[in-house]
Amino acid sequence: MEKKDSGLNRRNFLKSGLVATGALALAGAGAFMLDRNTAQARVRPDFLRPPGAINEKDFIYGCIKCGLCVQICPVQAIKLAKAGEGVAFGTPYINPRIQACDFSCDALQCVETCPTAVLNFKPFKEAGLAAVEKATQEAGADFAKVNPFEVQKVAMKQIVRMGKARVNTETCLAHHGLGFKGVSRGTDFRGIYRAPESADASASPLAEKQFDREVCNLCITECPIGPKAIVQEPSRSNGNLVPKVLDGCTGCGVCVMVCPTRETSIIVEPS
Ligand code: SF4
Ligand code: SF4
Ligand code: SF4
Repeated sequence: MEKKDSGLNRRNFLKSGLVATGALALAGAGAFMLDRNTAQARVRPDFLRPPGAINEKDFIYGCIKCGLCVQICPVQAIKLAKAGEGVAFGTPYINPRIQACDFSCDALQCVETCPTAVLNFKPFKEAGLAAVEKATQEAGADFAKVNPFEVQKVAMKQIVRMGKARVNTETCLAHHGLGFKGVSRGTDFRGIYRAPESADASASPLAEKQFDREVCNLCITECPIGPKAIVQEPSRSNGNLVPKVLDGCTGCGVCVMVCPTRETSIIVEPS
């Protein structure tokens, strides 16, 4: 009887060992698949993460899908991904062709509100404070004239790196020496933005804006960052005046939203 019991115990032990090994293998495979799936989930490279997003893999695991960034964005640029939409389910993204981040909140509110810091406010806070300190020192006796809010907001915006814009030279009107006249995305388009020359603090519909350009330069004139991000210069191949994206590009995607060609001729490649 004793012999039988010990045989049974050995068999049970072996069986439970096999079960444990199987469970571990399954867990490993699950983790592998999760990693693979999260990487594969990013099938829309034209969708951007909101400003300040940490690296994609950590972002997917760390974001609790609370939607606070979605709620606070005044131009409703941020959406939470539905199943099969092209980025990991429930995580926030921006499709700049539909609605770009135009920085009209002035304070990176989505980043500041994120409770998990997967949108990391720390570098923005540091850049803002450093800029205010520098401006105050440079102003010397006139330090009272420095508007800390203005200085801080410019400094914070300029270090955003959601990606970098790239022009499609095949379809860009300027590369073919062509201009543009009219409403860039049609009168039904719902996107809004605060045009750089606008005195209005809030964003207004792109559909209400008429352009008339001998050579298309909408991506340049409407960029909220300006000549640090994108300039016009003669093309090396034919001398046409064309857009050139610089390292100061924040990847905000306003250029993508305003570009008048049927398929956008400028895209933002996510960082
Ligand atoms: S606020 Fe932060 S945690 Fe919440 S959905 Fe947005 S990125 Fe994710
Ligand atoms: S707005 Fe579009 S078509 Fe016009 S110059 Fe820029 S990329 Fe080219
Ligand atoms: S070029 Fe200007 S408008 Fe386009 S993504 Fe860069 S910063 Fe934004």
